[in-house]
Amino acid sequence: MSATQASVGRNNLMANGKKALVGSAKASARLRAVGLRPTRQRRLLAELLFRYGHRHVTAELLHREAEESGGRVSLATVYNALHQFTAAGLLQQVVVEPSRSYFDTNCGSHQHFYHEDDGELIDIADDRVAVSGLPQPPKGTAIARVDVVVRIRRA
Ligand SMILES: [Zn+2]
Repeated sequence: MSATQASVGRNNLMANGKKALVGSAKASARLRAVGLRPTRQRRLLAELLFRYGHRHVTAELLHREAEESGGRVSLATVYNALHQFTAAGLLQQVVVEPSRSYFDTNCGSHQHFYHEDDGELIDIADDRVAVSGLPQPPKGTAIARVDVVVRIRRA
C-alpha cells in the first residue's frame, strides 16, 4: 500500500473506529455519465441512494444516513445534491406537500400511494392508474407527464 492510500484509509476512520462509507467506483461512474463531477460528497450520497435498488428518500433522511455512515455533509449540501441529481435525470422529485418532497431513484413512469399516517411513499405500477378527461393543454404546449399521488390513511 502506498503512503497516499494509507493516509486515505486513516482519514476514513470515524471516531468510533468504524470505517466511514465512501462512494464506490460505480457511484462515480453514475455521476460522470450524467455530467456531474464526482466530488467526495456527491459520491457518498450517490452510494447511499443507489446501493439498495429503488427507494424514496427525503433530504432529512439522506442527511441522517450520511452522518451515520461517517460522512460530513451539511443538510444544505444534501438538498443541493438531490436537486442536481434530479436535474441530471438520476432522480425524480415527488412533492406530496409544500413542505415535504421525496426523491425517487425510480425514474421510470409510475405513480404513488402516500400514506398520510406514516409519511411513506409506495409505488404503484403505471399501468394500474388510468387518468381520463384531461383538459386540452394551452396552445403551444403538450402534456409532459401526469403525476398521481393517491393519499391513503389507516382505515
Ligand atoms: Zn416511486
